[in-house]
Amino acid sequence: MDCVEDLDDGVNVAIIGAGWAGLAAAATLAQAKVTVTVFEAARHFGGRARSVEIEGIELDNGQHLLIGAYRETLRLMRAVGADPDQLLLRQPLAIEYPGKFSLRAPRLPAPLHLVAALLTASGPAWGERFAALRFVAAMRRNAYRIAADMPVGELLALHRQSGALARYLWEPLCVSALNTPAASASAQVFLNVLRDGLDGAREASDFLVPRADLGKLFPEPAAAFVRANGGSVRRGTPVRTLDRSVDGFVLDASSERYTHVILAVGPHQIDPLLDRFPMLATTRQSLAAFAYEPIYTCYLQYPPEVAMPQAMTGFDGGAIQWVFDRGRLNGTAGLLAGVISAGGVHQNVSQDVVASAMHRELSAFLPGLPQPLWSRVIAEKRATYSCRPGLARPGNQTAVDNLYLAGDYTACDYPATLETAVRSGVLAARLVRQR
Ligand SMILES: Cc1cc2nc3c(=O)[nH]c(=O)nc-3n(C[C@H](O)[C@H](O)[C@H](O)COP(=O)(O)OP(=O)(O)OC[C@H]3O[C@@H](n4cnc5c(N)ncnc54)[C@H](O)[C@@H]3O)c2cc1C
Repeated sequence: MDCVEDLDDGVNVAIIGAGWAGLAAAATLAQAKVTVTVFEAARHFGGRARSVEIEGIELDNGQHLLIGAYRETLRLMRAVGADPDQLLLRQPLAIEYPGKFSLRAPRLPAPLHLVAALLTASGPAWGERFAALRFVAAMRRNAYRIAADMPVGELLALHRQSGALARYLWEPLCVSALNTPAASASAQVFLNVLRDGLDGAREASDFLVPRADLGKLFPEPAAAFVRANGGSVRRGTPVRTLDRSVDGFVLDASSERYTHVILAVGPHQIDPLLDRFPMLATTRQSLAAFAYEPIYTCYLQYPPEVAMPQAMTGFDGGAIQWVFDRGRLNGTAGLLAGVISAGGVHQNVSQDVVASAMHRELSAFLPGLPQPLWSRVIAEKRATYSCRPGLARPGNQTAVDNLYLAGDYTACDYPATLETAVRSGVLAARLVRQR
């Protein structure tokens, strides 16, 4: 933690929302011995990255993937007592589309790992590999900045990225990281992710796949840490109104007063909490312009002997984009999680149809696959905002003194990810301490 002078005892911070951003802010402040109270509407912590129990089985609301470049998330996990080395399976960057494409980054210093990965990939033609190397070299020369933002698809076309590398590397990386299809995603945000993820330190490109359910990764240890450091974390406590009186912020007309508020709710949940602050009309307008993308996670439970050859496998041409083998990750043998990022036809069909499609696509890959014992689709309809070119994202600081925003939608180099949420929470906490 940085060294900022501790605040007077009179400081009393309310944090609304116990997703990863709110809990990152709370843990940062609690560690600095600042009094915090966290209000969470739901019965669980973690918001859009949380554990869910279905028929006695611990699942996640959505399969998540972290990368080695998530430095603040990894640092804060350690700070609250959650060991990333135990809780995350660290693998060098590896993308497998069985029989179609395979790319693995060897353990070489950056950027040699990337060069070697592109040269040794199976699937792309030689011309495509050299075009990809030229693309990366051109981006490096410009420090991964483009003069004017544009869709990722346009950037790829400008740099002659086509064929297998476009289809199995750049486009899937774009949809996975930005949750927005290449045709409409922001090229600048995509390049920021490539800069840190592919062209940072070698470890930055590692995939970190959760081996425990999401609650144990950060939300639960963070809430326990806040409590152990004198803070209060209240579940099932939605805040419906936020106002300011002469002696501080007032939540739901209660008699408690807060010197500072960090609003850490999702971007689509914030509007009613700002309606008593006319000075924030512009912030409300900019958030009203956000569009959203879904993420569906389809769980199929097979008999325990069913397993995929690796923890994470790419699929294309059908409904499912990635399949994670939860048996390999956290020991729930036979449980496969299929991920569908961004919008598509799956939104217009029943969950049974999605589950049947995943079973069919798996059966083509694993001949003789038995019928699943049960299935469940978790549809997060507003999983993230659509990360379009030039999207204006508000900063943490607002026009109202001592009222801050935190969440995966605030201004940051990165798209809507756990790392963005955590960085935003930490930044909001630092702003409180600096004031
Ligand atoms: C299915 C899915 C898969 C994803 N996959 C990945 C991935 O692989 N890698 C990755 O990095 N990111 C991934 N993400 C994105 C990541 O989960 C989010 O960016 C991150 O969790 C956002 O955290 P947050 O704290 O900003 O917001 P939220 O998680 O939305 O937290 C806001 C919290 O505020 C609470 N709240 C709302 N209104 C009120 C109120 N009035 N009073 C009190 N509490 C309130 C909510 O209940 C919630 O808990 C995925 C997201 C989804 C949904």
